[in-house]
Amino acid sequence: MTKPSQVRCTDRYSPTLLSYSPTHLPPTLLLLTPNYLLLYLPLPATNILLHAGDLTKVGHKHEHLSLLSTLQSAAAELKLVIPGNHDITLDAPYYTSKGHLRHRHRTDHTAPSVHANTAHNISAGKHEEGAIEDPDDIKRLYTSAEAWEAGIRYLEEGVHVFRLTSGVRFTVYASPFTPEFCDWAFAYERGVDRERDSPPQNPIPSHPSIDIILTHGPPYGILDQVVPSHASVGCEHLYRAVKRARPRLHVFGHIHEGYGARRVEWSTGNESMIQCDEQTTLQEGCARVDLSKDGGAGLRFGDETLFVNASIMTVQYHPVNAPWVVELDLPVGEE
Ligand SMILES: [Zn+2]
Repeated sequence: MTKPSQVRCTDRYSPTLLSYSPTHLPPTLLLLTPNYLLLYLPLPATNILLHAGDLTKVGHKHEHLSLLSTLQSAAAELKLVIPGNHDITLDAPYYTSKGHLRHRHRTDHTAPSVHANTAHNISAGKHEEGAIEDPDDIKRLYTSAEAWEAGIRYLEEGVHVFRLTSGVRFTVYASPFTPEFCDWAFAYERGVDRERDSPPQNPIPSHPSIDIILTHGPPYGILDQVVPSHASVGCEHLYRAVKRARPRLHVFGHIHEGYGARRVEWSTGNESMIQCDEQTTLQEGCARVDLSKDGGAGLRFGDETLFVNASIMTVQYHPVNAPWVVELDLPVGEE
């Protein structure tokens, strides 16, 4: 596997970051699905991999094991992972109180609630109860010594600091939570301000503290429109917090229809969609964006943020969207 390049300057490196979200289907199944353009396996080599959640379709252990084997074989020094609303076994309080019903009743991932509904029951043996998973056992898959050794870091909600062997030191704010939708995991009531309520449940520090925000859901108004209504379904409070934090990069998924990358200039309100050449994207198996200073279009930290909706699947769960690879200047770290 080729090693990712990394530009060296005196005070900064420009590592590459791979943004990757809802995986939902086991990759082995994807490989057997001939009608789709399977752009994302093997994953391109980068320095950092960011998975914005929905690691699985409905949180079964076998789905996690499949995803983990993809992550383990990915050529990246650091693999930062958050769960999403579909990863019901990683939200232990939710799974224990009601999420387990999705497994017990073998409820399809598209069902509107955790409760059994014959119209959504996809079990071959419809009257047989499904097996219940152990949330602690699932969590350990991501926090084991083996996962750590493979560079996998499972991020709880909050601020995390990382260092690469190159000396790059960067700060990430992570959150798996999204506004309530169809009784899934990691949900909060729409309208609740997790970022600023007093006392704050989920404080995002203001600029210049955070380099990268990694959330499962989008902020309101940014790559967050659903079809066919084109309604924005992102979180208003998250948008306000991101505007205050002004990170270099904000990666999310969740809203498959919103796939894309948008560069925002805070001082003017100017926004531009990132356009990638289709042929090159197909050849390379990823959509590349160079925002390093040496690339000629360097991102100005504090006034610009690149937003990436990394949903590799369409709303019909077809895995046809290319993962994004972003080249970005990050500081070489003092403590
Ligand atoms: Zn989701």
